[in-house]
Amino acid sequence: MNPASYDELDGVRTYKLFIAGEWMRSSRNIVADSVNPADGAIFARTQQAGRDEVVRAIDAAHKAFGAWGSSLASEREKILLKTAEVIERRTPEIRDMLIDECGSVFNKALWEISYVTDCLVSAAGDVRHVMGETMPVTQPGQISMSVRRPLGVVAGIAPFNSPFLLSMKKIAFALAAGNTFVLKPSEETPISGALIADLFDEAGLPAGVLNVVPGVPAEVGDLIMADPRVKLVTFTGSTRTGRKLAVEAAKHLKRFTLEMGGKSPLIVLKDADLDYAVDAAAFGVFLHQGQVCMANSKIMVEAPIFDAFKERFVAKAKTIPVGHPREATSVIGPLIRDSQVAFIDGQLEDASGKGAVIELGGGHEGRYFQPTVLTGVTPDMRIYHEESFGPVVSLIRVADSEEALAIANDTEYGLSAAVITNDLQKAMDLSMRLESGMVHVNDCTITDEPHVPFGGVKNSGFGREGGRSSWEELTEQKWITIQLGKREFPF
Ligand code: NAD
Repeated sequence: MNPASYDELDGVRTYKLFIAGEWMRSSRNIVADSVNPADGAIFARTQQAGRDEVVRAIDAAHKAFGAWGSSLASEREKILLKTAEVIERRTPEIRDMLIDECGSVFNKALWEISYVTDCLVSAAGDVRHVMGETMPVTQPGQISMSVRRPLGVVAGIAPFNSPFLLSMKKIAFALAAGNTFVLKPSEETPISGALIADLFDEAGLPAGVLNVVPGVPAEVGDLIMADPRVKLVTFTGSTRTGRKLAVEAAKHLKRFTLEMGGKSPLIVLKDADLDYAVDAAAFGVFLHQGQVCMANSKIMVEAPIFDAFKERFVAKAKTIPVGHPREATSVIGPLIRDSQVAFIDGQLEDASGKGAVIELGGGHEGRYFQPTVLTGVTPDMRIYHEESFGPVVSLIRVADSEEALAIANDTEYGLSAAVITNDLQKAMDLSMRLESGMVHVNDCTITDEPHVPFGGVKNSGFGREGGRSSWEELTEQKWITIQLGKREFPF
C-alpha cells in the first residue's frame, strides 16, 4: 500500500480515508479496530468518516463527474485495464488482506481476485458498447434518438463476505459508464476499501472519481441517502439492512438497487450421478464456510436416492479440512464474528429441539464451525427459513420433483437455485417455475460471471448487476429530437 494511506504505531497500521485523490484522517480522529477472524487479534485500524468527510467525498465525486462523465471511452477503458494489471501484479498482497480481514481461505481469496480482474476487463469491454438508439418518427423531418448518459455520483454499500469482489463489481461498471463513486465498505472489511482506492490510484484514476469512506454504517448511510447529488445507491448485504435502506431511499426518491440474502435450494433428482451431485452440493454450501449469498443451504433429494446421497454427502463433509485460512489446504476457515457463531448455535438448538437430527458436526472451536449436516428439518424450524451464513446444510427427503419445487419456493428469498438431473425436460420445467433470479442445471447454486444479469427476486432483491444489466442501471436514457426544416404547427 502507498505509505500515505496509513499511519503506523507499534507495527499496527491505521488506514486513512480516500477523498478527492488524497489520503486523510477523519476530523474527529475516530478509529475502529479491525479484528482478524482467524485469531481474534486486532491487526489494523481504520479512520472513521464523519459528516465532514462524507460530504467532502460527495463534493469530490460531484466535482469530478464533469470531466469523468464526458471523458473519452478510450480513457476510461485504459484506466480499467491498467487497474486489472495492477491487481495481477499485487495479487499476493490482496490475497493476504482478504485472508486477514475476512477469513477467506487461500483459494477463495485467489478466486475472488481473479474474478475482479475479469470484471475490470469485462467492464472495460463494455465502455464502447454503452449505446443509444434511433427511433422511427411520425413527424415529417424529425430525427429521433435516445442517448445514454451516466447518472453522476453513485454510492455503493458493500458487505463483508467478498469485500473485494462485491465492491469492485459495483465500481468497475459505474466508472465504465462514466459515473463517479463513493464507497462505504463494510465495517468488518474496511481495509479492502482502502486497498481498492490504492489500486485505482496507482492506475492513474483522476482525483475524486473514486472516494472511500468507511464509518458508522447508519451515519454514513443516512448522509449518502439524503444527499440529492447521489443519484443511485447500490446496496449488497442482508435483507434486514436492505429493507431499512429501501425506506430511506423511498423517502428521498433515490434510485436504489438491492442485492440481498438467500436460502438457495438445490434439487437432486433420482437419475443424478450421485458422486457428482455430492461434490456439487458440498462446494455449494461449504465454500467460504457457507458465507456466500448463493449457498445451497437446503438440499432436496428424491426419495429413491436420499439415503445413498446422505451417506456419501456426510462422508464427503467429514473430509473437508477446517483450519487457519493461511494454510493453503484449509477449505473451511473462521466465521466473521462470534455473534454469527452464536446465531448458528441458536438455529441448531431450535432445530434439534424440534426433532431435527444433526447427522454431522454441530460444534465449533471458537469461530471455526464444523461442517454440519441436518436431516428431519421441517417448516416449523428457524433453519428451514433463515439464512445461516455458515457451513450448515439441511438434507430434505422429497417424494418427487413437485414436492422439491414446493419446498424450494417455500421461502421469502429468491436468489439462486439449482437442479441436478440428466432429464433436461424436467430441468427446464423446474427452471421456469423456481421462484429465483438465477437457476443452474447440473451445477450447484454458486456460480457468477461479471457479464451476466446477477440478482434475485422476492426478498433477495431487485435490480441486476453485471455487464449490460449494470450499465442499464447505471445510465439514464435521454430522448433527443432534431427537426430538419420547419415543423408545421396547428396555430
Ligand atoms: P449487512 O446487511 O450487515 O451489511 C451490509 C452493508 O450494509 C455493510 O456495509 C454495512 O455497514 C451496511 N449497513 C448496515 N446498516 C446500515 C445502515 N443503517 N445504513 C447504511 N448502511 C448500513 O450484511 P453483511 O453481514 O455485511 O453481509 C451478509 C449479507 O449480505 C447476507 O445476508 C448475504 O446473503 C448478503 N449478500 C448478498 C449478496 C448478493 O449479491 N445478493 C452478496 C453478498 C452478500
